[in-house]
Amino acid sequence: MTEQRRLITEIIRNTEDHMTAEQIYMLAKEQMPCIAIGTIYRNLGIMERDGEILRITIPNAPDRYDRNVRFHEHLLCSRCGTLEDIWMEGLLEIMNSMTEMQIESYELALHGVCKKCQKSAAAAD
Ligand SMILES: [Zn+2]
Ligand SMILES: [Zn+2]
Repeated sequence: MTEQRRLITEIIRNTEDHMTAEQIYMLAKEQMPCIAIGTIYRNLGIMERDGEILRITIPNAPDRYDRNVRFHEHLLCSRCGTLEDIWMEGLLEIMNSMTEMQIESYELALHGVCKKCQKSAAAAD
């Protein structure tokens, strides 16, 4: 494993957030000032291919990267853009039995207004 890849892996493992490549780049630069954004993208591509991370595509926004590769779902706030993990236990079994498929992967993001944004909207009234 290259030094760059080790650093990127460490950055992703150490955060709960689903970061964009740009955010990962900013953190990587703090420790490796001469690292290039192209190196970040290239390594993220390899790590995704190797099944170490997930890439989450969001319409009209940059892709995010996820350290959780186990089946899970996402909550996406349409106000603040926060992306959170949610673990819907039993969902995979339901989908497997409904489709009679052995599902290998899926992407599910629920779009809405997060708790924090609901509160600040209520406070503004
Ligand atoms: Zn929000
Ligand atoms: Zn996630």
